[in-house]
Order: sequence, then structure tokens, then C-alpha cells
Amino acid sequence: MTENPANRIQDYLVFGEFGGVNPSIEDSSTFTFLSAERMKEVFQGRAEGCYLYSRHINPTDEYLARVIALMEASECAQITASGMSAISCILLQLCNSGDEIISSRTIYGGTYALLKNFLPKLGINTQFVDITNLAEVKSKINEKTKILYFESISNPLLEVADIPALKKLASQHNLKLVVDNTFSPLMFSPIKLGADVVAYSLTKFVNGSSDCIAGAICGTHDFISSLRDVNSGACMLLGPVMDSMRAASIFKNMRTLHVRMVQHSKNAQYIAENIEKLGIRVFYPGLPSHPQHKLLKSMLNHDYGFGGMVTIDVKDEEIANKLMVKMQEELVGYFAVSLGFYKTLFSSPGTSTSSEIPKEEQERIGLSPGLVRFSVGIDHDIERTFDRIKQSMIDCGVI
Ligand code: PLP
Repeated sequence: MTENPANRIQDYLVFGEFGGVNPSIEDSSTFTFLSAERMKEVFQGRAEGCYLYSRHINPTDEYLARVIALMEASECAQITASGMSAISCILLQLCNSGDEIISSRTIYGGTYALLKNFLPKLGINTQFVDITNLAEVKSKINEKTKILYFESISNPLLEVADIPALKKLASQHNLKLVVDNTFSPLMFSPIKLGADVVAYSLTKFVNGSSDCIAGAICGTHDFISSLRDVNSGACMLLGPVMDSMRAASIFKNMRTLHVRMVQHSKNAQYIAENIEKLGIRVFYPGLPSHPQHKLLKSMLNHDYGFGGMVTIDVKDEEIANKLMVKMQEELVGYFAVSLGFYKTLFSSPGTSTSSEIPKEEQERIGLSPGLVRFSVGIDHDIERTFDRIKQSMIDCGVI
């Protein structure tokens, strides 16, 4: 197996029913059998390569799952209808009532709300920590802890977790390391660094077209089989299935992921360096001023840079709001949540993607009301884009 994840994707060949260069789309919810015995075997999970019902496994979703697993260097993968369903299914599969999770406190707001508000209804509680502080993480582990949960590059402050060190801690206490790698496909291979399970919102960089909601789970054959179990599998029983038409479309978009990631990172590095030069506080792991810059370098796969996400702090919510409207007018990109689109997207985390985090907690973790998060696009002429950002900042009194 070649080491570069993009090479592994490129070498995965599947053909259509008539030799087409794209695989055929399996447009069926159910599958026929020639014998009752065979159907029984499939129900019992004893017949490899046979299909039963598309909530269980669909061949087109399987093509996408295979290519995601190759990218991650994981044994297996499961495709889900959203990033949130991927995360929920992982946590519900691994935890029982009475178990605890230790989670980074800087995570996507939807995940925060799931852990803080929803899972306690099922008796699953979470302790939130500064994931970059290993002593704090260690101090929270107790006999109920089952999972260490974090994002490899966190949302929206772009903190970087030390995956090998956290793996060591997890192994000592028999915990599962679950990592959301949504911000850094190809750049990071969390499983190779020690993660047990990786979650993705494919909605973002992986698909790259902002035309659908999608997710994936990567892990061992045993774990993915457990998710699909007809009696006890979270994916099988909660049913967050991706439609095969959509899976085929994401599968094709993944062929350009390596080119897009390089351009996102190159442009984000330029924007981060130049905004920092204007005297504005910039959070970007590619800047030497970022506290985990060196750590990140030691974990990254080569070739893909430091990612497409940049967060800046203009200190004041009203100015941040004015700036985003102005940048949209100046064609910098769109005032919209989400990430990984070809155009630059920007939003203010405190009032959007992190709004689920209570205000006092936002303050405590450094989530200033003046933050603006950019998902930097793959613009051909990033100098022109920066000039537009700078002019918008002048017009709004940021500088
Ligand atoms: N993980 C991260 C880091 C995210 O930013 C998001 C969405 O913004 C999600 C998970 C949830 O993904 P989805 O919207 O596909 O359910």
C-alpha cells in the first residue's frame, strides 16, 4: 500500500456494469435471493458480498466507504447521512447508560449540544476539558470513562490535539480515542497516529461542493460490523443511511480532494500571514505564532499544508457582523456557515456554529464575540481576495 492517502484513493479502481469508468449506481432499497438458506446467512452476517436491504449495506455506499477507508488507512468505513449521525452512532455504540465521555471543550457546537444536552437523557455524561492540557485530561479519567473525544483541528479556535500522547493515556485506561477529522482530510491520518475511530462530516472539504449533508465513520472491521448489526447496531437501528445517488456523487468529488486541499491550504496560509501583518489576532496552525504549530508539523502528512480554516478576532461583535456583510458585498465570498466550499465562507462562531455553547463558557474558553471564522476558498488569485478583505476591514473600521 502506497503511503500517501491521495495515492491510495487514486489507485482504487471500480468499473460500471458495462465497463464504464464510473461504477454503476445501485438504485434499489432491497435485493432478491434465490434461496431461503442464503437469506438466513445474510441476516446472520455470514455471507460476504451479498446484499439484503439498503439500510444495512448498499453497494454504492460501499464504494464510497471503501475510498474513505483507504484515505484514512482504516480497516473499514461506514457512510452516514450526516456528520452528526456519524458522531451520534459512534458514541451510542460505544457507551451504555452510566458511562462517561471526556471531550475537548472546543468542538463543533452541534456536537457540544449532543454531549451536553442530549446524551445525559440516556445516562451518558460528559466532562469537558482543554484537550491541549494532558494533565487536565488525565485528572478527569475515572472508572466510568469510556471515550476521549476531540477534533484533530478544533472548531473554531483551531487548537491541535496531541494524538499520540492522548493515545498513550487512552491505552493506559482502556479508553477509546474518537477523533473528528472533518477539518483536515488527507492532512491528518488520526488512525495511524493512534485513534480508534474517526468521524467525518463529509459535508465539508471531502465533498467540497456544499450541495449535500453527509458523514462517515472509520474504524476496525469489528467496530463497523457492530454498527451494522441487525439486533444492536446504531447505524442499522437508527437508520442514518445515505442515498446511493448522493454517495455516487461524493465518490466522484473525492477524486479532486488532493488538489482542492493543497489550494485551500495555500490560500489560507497567505490570508493568515497577511491578516496577522495588519496587527489582527489570527488563529491558524500554519503560523509560527500558533501554540501547537510545531506539534502539528510533527503529525501532518506531507503535501497538504495546514488546512483551509482561519479564525480572526476583531474584538467586537458588531464590527464582526459589519465586516462579514461588507466582505460579501466586495465578493470575498459568502456570509454563510459551513466549510470546504470552492468560495470563501465566513461566519461568526459565537452567534452561529458555536452558539450552543453558553456565553459564560464561550468567554472561559476564549471564544470572543469578535471572532470571524473563514473557510478559505480555492480562489485562483488569492492576492486579489486579500486586497478585498483589507479594503473591507478599512471600510468597517477594523484597521
Ligand atoms: N464536525 C464538525 C467539525 C463540523 O464542523 C460539523 C458541522 O459543521 C459537524 C461535525 C456536523 O456535520 P453535519 O453538518 O454534516 O452533520
